[in-house]
Amino acid sequence: MKMRFSRFLRSTLRAVAPLSCALLLVACGGKQGAASEAASSADAGQTTPAAAAPAAESTGGFDGQQAYQYVADQVAIGPRGAGTEGDTRAQQYIVGKLQSFGCPVDQEDFHASTPIGSVAMKNIVAKVPGASPDIVLFTTHYDTKRLPNFVGADDGGSSTGVMLELARLVCARKNALTVWVAFFDGEEAFNPDVWQDPDNTYGSRELAARLALSGDLGHVKAMLLADLVGGRNLHVKRDSNSTGWLTDMVWSTAARLGYKDIFLNDRVAMEDDHLPFLHRNVAAVDIIDLDTSNDVPYWHTPADTLDKISPRSLAIVGHVLIATLPELEQKFHSAARP
Ligand SMILES: [Zn+2]
Repeated sequence: MKMRFSRFLRSTLRAVAPLSCALLLVACGGKQGAASEAASSADAGQTTPAAAAPAAESTGGFDGQQAYQYVADQVAIGPRGAGTEGDTRAQQYIVGKLQSFGCPVDQEDFHASTPIGSVAMKNIVAKVPGASPDIVLFTTHYDTKRLPNFVGADDGGSSTGVMLELARLVCARKNALTVWVAFFDGEEAFNPDVWQDPDNTYGSRELAARLALSGDLGHVKAMLLADLVGGRNLHVKRDSNSTGWLTDMVWSTAARLGYKDIFLNDRVAMEDDHLPFLHRNVAAVDIIDLDTSNDVPYWHTPADTLDKISPRSLAIVGHVLIATLPELEQKFHSAARP
């Protein structure tokens, strides 16, 4: 995923930096200053204690410690880039967990045309039937970016851990609305440097297209995406690409639960797995912390490791998601009744 304009800034810096260094040593000193600033904020991120998760009873039954274990299990697999052996092992892990929770699981295989050729990918969707055919769709990507020694504890691992724990809860009960929990493959771009369509969001585009073909897309009332939600300094800003009413619903739920210091009212524009659904007129929201200057200085680096993950952050995001479900049920279920 990316913030709008960040790619432009990155490539501009990359192009300009060597020239500045050659012509103007002061500029290099300035750049070093910026680098050490970034390093110290990275240190700050690491010294923030990884707070334990509150008891599940206080977070709507969502067990943050359990979610953390799911992150640890994924990291133990190693790199999980789309189409790699690690990706296959991650798929087996996710399917195995969902089945152990008693979830009905669809494994949706497809081939994606990528810059390195055709790549076999798989979306995994837990489909929990409800009293109404209308669907609430919770989503994450589970693939990790294809970078050397990159295990994606936060980027790929954290939100997948949250969605597994959420699936454990919703699969064990009767819900008013149909609830799907989707695990996307291929969110990350294959190009290591550039986020450019169509080299990204392969899995979410595939699911959105399949839903459109099957006619189920009209039943999807809300798509809630989590990505990079496990950091110790978690702050989630309102994504201006996301649907207003759904963002308001999630943020007001978070405020009601006492998480105003985590779910901020600042705005950011995100490009992520929610876009293919927004483009098909499905209400969607992205819950993400991509503040690379403060919260996630380890983003897309080998430093995105398990020690960056806070069970408490996972618990908070899980609590907000599980508490938003009754709000959605209230909004849509009564309307769906005959
Ligand atoms: Zn990423």
